[in-house]
Amino acid sequence: MRVLVIGAGVIGAAIAWELRQRGAEVVLLEGSAEGGHTSAASAGMVNPFSLTPDDSPALPLYWQSLQMYPEWTRTLYEQTGIDPEWRQAGCVRIALTDADADHLEASLAWIRRYDPRAERIDSHTARQMEPALNPEIVDAIYIPSEGWVHTARLIRALHRAVQLYGVNLYTGSPALSLIVQSGALRGVQTPHGVMEGDAVVVAAGAWAGALLQPLGIHAPTVPVRGVILALGDLPVPIQHILSMPGGYLVPRADGTALLGATREQAGYDARATAEAYALLMHTLARLAPRLMHATVQGHTVGLRPDTPDHNPYIGAAEGFAGLYLAAGHAYHGILLAPATARALADLILNGATDLPIAPFNPNRFMR
Ligand SMILES: Cc1cc2nc3c(=O)[nH]c(=O)nc-3n(C[C@H](O)[C@H](O)[C@H](O)COP(=O)(O)OP(=O)(O)OC[C@H]3O[C@@H](n4cnc5c(N)ncnc54)[C@H](O)[C@@H]3O)c2cc1C
Repeated sequence: MRVLVIGAGVIGAAIAWELRQRGAEVVLLEGSAEGGHTSAASAGMVNPFSLTPDDSPALPLYWQSLQMYPEWTRTLYEQTGIDPEWRQAGCVRIALTDADADHLEASLAWIRRYDPRAERIDSHTARQMEPALNPEIVDAIYIPSEGWVHTARLIRALHRAVQLYGVNLYTGSPALSLIVQSGALRGVQTPHGVMEGDAVVVAAGAWAGALLQPLGIHAPTVPVRGVILALGDLPVPIQHILSMPGGYLVPRADGTALLGATREQAGYDARATAEAYALLMHTLARLAPRLMHATVQGHTVGLRPDTPDHNPYIGAAEGFAGLYLAAGHAYHGILLAPATARALADLILNGATDLPIAPFNPNRFMR
């Protein structure tokens, strides 16, 4: 079985690695010089709950993917010598208004269906855990199961792993079009010629929708720009993810922290504007005002692949034998990478998966 995977972001690289470990011949096509720019630019939270506004049909897969993280990152580290810095110290989510506190309390009910150790904590306890937090906290919850990785390291490790395992990774090789014969995928047109395969996986992030459109497949992906600031010289260290509506802080192993993130409709424009900095500073002043004395060390920008319902496309495309989608992971691509990879490999190699991917049917927006 020879599989062509399009896009070497966290999703495509994770799928290529999984397929190769399970014996498939894999070609990974990446249009840019390196690949995974958005994935590397992201905050790296492995957080089923803290950015999820409401009880969602996506939660079972979020939760299963989180369960895979410890072993997935350990194996990656062992195989490549690159430590993705997996940490699982949990998230402190705060409310600064009564309305947010009500929402927090309602959220706790569905979060505890998955993580029974999640609990409400009072303002005093929250500030004992994290002295950087705003003293005007109205309410807080602690979600111990959530974790995070260092995304630039994760992407480097995945790229190293696929190469060590014998995946043919071609950078600077965009898929220009998908080649169909008699209703089945035959391969991919690249600037260097046609590549043939028994199956093709479109894992092209925010660019996936445009690649599929000429086949009449309506699986829209819209770029949502996100800017993150890297903070150093923290006057008070942080140990957990700290989050509130509109923003978050993620600690790093080296004592720095990431402050995120904007959500901007700016097409494929990947600039960090002064307005983005202003929005992030506003978040910081409300979430952890003492960190306003930290140093801004730089920023990263990524284009999240959003979809109309903010859920990804994971599965086989109807009407085209051999075509699979793994795109549109919006706000949760880092979290969902191990589960997406396993589900896709199950579908391609065995024809079925027991992972709960029903909400992510790639054909759901087709008329
Ligand atoms: C600021 C920010 C913070 C985030 N924080 C988190 C977080 O904390 N937790 C979380 O789970 N998620 C987070 N995300 C979301 C996460 O980063 C994305 O969901 C994830 O990176 C998507 O991965 P991907 O592989 O689908 O896309 P990408 O990383 O964009 O990779 C797609 C690849 O496909 C390539 N490509 C495109 N077209 C073609 C073509 N025609 N041929 C060949 N290659 C092609 C691109 O060059 C790119 O390398 C965040 C995103 C941003 C921007």
